[in-house]
Amino acid sequence: MKVLVTGGAGFIGSNFVNYMVHKYPNYTFVNVDALTYAGNLENLKPVENAPNYTFVKADITDREKMEKLVADGVDVIVNFAAESHVDRSITEPDTFVKTNIMGTQILLDIARKCNINKYVQISTDEVYGTLGETGYFTEETPLAPNSPYSASKASADLLVRAYHETYGLPVNITRCSNNYGPYHFPEKLIPLMIINALHDKELPVYGDGLNIRDWLYVEDHCAAIDLVIHKGKDGEVYNVGGNNERTNIEIVKRILKELGKSENLIRFVKDRPGHDRRYAIDATKLKTELGWQPKYDFETGIVKTIQWYLDNRDWWERIISGDYQTYYEQQYKQR
Ligand code: NAD
Repeated sequence: MKVLVTGGAGFIGSNFVNYMVHKYPNYTFVNVDALTYAGNLENLKPVENAPNYTFVKADITDREKMEKLVADGVDVIVNFAAESHVDRSITEPDTFVKTNIMGTQILLDIARKCNINKYVQISTDEVYGTLGETGYFTEETPLAPNSPYSASKASADLLVRAYHETYGLPVNITRCSNNYGPYHFPEKLIPLMIINALHDKELPVYGDGLNIRDWLYVEDHCAAIDLVIHKGKDGEVYNVGGNNERTNIEIVKRILKELGKSENLIRFVKDRPGHDRRYAIDATKLKTELGWQPKYDFETGIVKTIQWYLDNRDWWERIISGDYQTYYEQQYKQR
């Protein structure tokens, strides 16, 4: 089987490639990534010399290049490539529309033209909008995205659905809750807090810190996608989540405790506009129909993640110097 992974130099994509290339030595993997600020080939050190792995620098909106790659015998496409940061989507939505919507449509067209066997769209629970204090998102929950990021992901999901209904393209969509683990880019909550705490720098927490996210260790997400590729019923959506609901402030305090740092480092900052209050996923369908079970509870996963950031200082120190620093200062200035 030949699998083309897009966005495989990002956080989840690289974890997925590292997981799959070793698990399936008889498959071949082509990793296509535009290497935006979020893409990092250092994430792929564990597989860079594997005989069943190749990397190609390309943009998914480059139709000609993508078609050449897919026409070269690809059986499965897994599309992780996206602009993924909500805060950036608020200040610069254009690139979100281009990559997340138009990029997906181009891949779908090519998948159809090349008669591929499976197209898997990696989506997010954020397409469902926000929950009150109770209830869970199921696959039947109506889409109600609130940020330019989630709106672009929801639009892509609708195109994927339409290509199945209209052209019979064999597709699946996975909608996962917040991931955490190795290679998570420092702008996201958990790595941001770990890195700031290690520098005794203030920890900026949006609003009252009581927004709730449902956290899943990234390897459990990769295992779910593996199952969907092999067993997913064409046209179906699968929610992925680990029943690990935590408020942001709980996460921040847990990190400070693990690192032996003071809670005085916490600084509440002006809330993100349109900030969803609570996400929680019902993953019953994935569990009962495909037999998925997460391996990591939050306690195990967070300790493992913090340890990874302690052991891999070189990786994040290179990232937080340079352009990222300018972004960080702009994002949290005057708040
Ligand atoms: P990320 O930002 O870390 O990685 C995205 C990757 O896509 C980067 O390597 C980037 O270079 C690449 N990319 C961006 N634009 C591209 C383009 N036009 N062509 C080719 N490559 C391009 O994101 P992530 O957190 O790893 O998320 C991966 C996917 O999973 C996204 O589709 C996201 O919506 C989804 N998702 C993420 C989470 C989460 O918690 N991080 C949860 C659910 C779903």
